[in-house]
Amino acid sequence: MRERESPTITGIGVSPGRVVGPVVLMPAPIAEPAISDRIAVGVDRATSAQRITTASAQVRDELTSAAAHASGKSRELLEATAMMAADPLLVTDARRRVLENGLAPARAIWDVAGQVCDDLTAVGGVVAERTRDVRDVRDRLVAAVTGQASPGVPRPLEPSVLVATDLAPADAATLDPAKFLAVVTESGGPISHTAIIARALGIPAVLGAVGAMGAVVEGSIVLVDGGRGTMRRDPPAELIASLAAATRPARTFDGYGHTADGVHIALVANVVDAASAVVAAEAKAEGVGLFRTEVGFLGREEAPSVAEQVEAYRGVFAAFPGRMVVIRTLDAGGDKSLPFLGLPVASNPALAPRGWRAATQLPAVVDDQLDAIARAARQESADVWVMAPMVATPQAAAEFVARCELHGLHRAGVVIEVPSAALRARQVFEHAAFASIGTNDLAQYAMAADRLDASLADLCDPWQPAVLALIAAACAGATHADRPVGVCGEAAAMPALAPVLVGLGVTSLSMTPRALADVAAVLATTTAADCARLADLALDAPDARAARERVRSAIPALLDLGL
Ligand code: PEP
Ligand code: MG
Repeated sequence: MRERESPTITGIGVSPGRVVGPVVLMPAPIAEPAISDRIAVGVDRATSAQRITTASAQVRDELTSAAAHASGKSRELLEATAMMAADPLLVTDARRRVLENGLAPARAIWDVAGQVCDDLTAVGGVVAERTRDVRDVRDRLVAAVTGQASPGVPRPLEPSVLVATDLAPADAATLDPAKFLAVVTESGGPISHTAIIARALGIPAVLGAVGAMGAVVEGSIVLVDGGRGTMRRDPPAELIASLAAATRPARTFDGYGHTADGVHIALVANVVDAASAVVAAEAKAEGVGLFRTEVGFLGREEAPSVAEQVEAYRGVFAAFPGRMVVIRTLDAGGDKSLPFLGLPVASNPALAPRGWRAATQLPAVVDDQLDAIARAARQESADVWVMAPMVATPQAAAEFVARCELHGLHRAGVVIEVPSAALRARQVFEHAAFASIGTNDLAQYAMAADRLDASLADLCDPWQPAVLALIAAACAGATHADRPVGVCGEAAAMPALAPVLVGLGVTSLSMTPRALADVAAVLATTTAADCARLADLALDAPDARAARERVRSAIPALLDLGL
């Protein structure tokens, strides 16, 4: 009976790998206390107010100790949140509302946090982005005063599978691969931040697994298959044993991507700075397919000088002497904030002037950046290619290429991530020396589905046949002009999708360095003709899920490779 009950929940496999382990559940989000939540008659107000002071110290200590075990950005985030939890103004104001108005401590904290969020929102820009941190502190304080489990990622005693309704990017960023064997969430999709982070950390992940929370309890044993997108509760002993026997070998990439019949597919890396470029070089990436230059300057109020930019770019070029490095000019606007550009607040950020469109309004910024790239390129031996994001028309491609020429940058191309550019690829390639397909945005714009909105994740999926058709159109333009065309969106890091992209005509794949070995392994099992057949299979599918399933079952090697 128990065996028959053992359910398998299916979602979207976004980070491959098969593991078995006990479940830890992500605590439920903290609900807003009732407006009418007041201190009961007969309860001392001073004692209630003291609970806020105690909770503040408790949350500060928890976060400080979590920070001590984290590093880099996660550590900074935790330290900043710890300071906010102990903020005397916040604590004093909440206490006052308890002492003077008789509010229950949880309600008082909620109201004060609401007031702070309103103030931050009124300032706008990067300041307004801090409201997320304020809400995080609010939830932790409310949990502490009401005796609920602290929100956020739990700290399991043994390596476990994290099952959650949803996982915020900030939580995903703190996941320690030594503690979490896999992640399963009910929401999210293949290009959500959680998926991107899980892939970068090498943690198997299944997202969009509706019903996952209800199918397990804390401690349930589950088998997660991050390639197929399944979570099976109480897997039979033989299956666990076979999995243990077939422990996935630590796969490495030998530095040369190819199909089974020897067609070279350059496997290159996405990087953001010198440190990530060094990691990519160590993983034997054949070069850099996407250097996101804006990431190093996010949140900056002051424009980086040319000299500062030269330093930053040289750091990446130096990691790949003699190799191709594709550097993308600033992709500001939308959800990526570069305050020094002074862009107006957009009513519809994804459709506002972002990327190259914003750049054309800021000619000095463009010239400074191209100048810095040219100088850095002259000082290093990397083979530097430059591309502009968010190019929608052949004319914009022509403008960018001409601008690069003025700076002595002769390899200039574009990111194809707006459907119009894919559909007009032939004309785009009359100017662009190459293109890289940004499948994250291409999916967002083709499907009219916000890439940050987890509830639309099934639409915003590079497996969508409509998105694949646009990739095919972009590739047809490249083939006609005999120009190279890569993919630099998350699609490139999906092992089952890689042969499809090659079949559509893509000549290089740029991804997080961790994905290189898996993608290389799958490509090495499929011939160019197989890839073309798989591409047709996916293009003909009725929807993304069917495309993925059809292709997966047509590549039996995926299972052998543990993908
Ligand atoms: C993309 O849109 O696919 C891409 C690679 O660019 P970004 O994710 O930085 O927008
Ligand atoms: Mg993009």
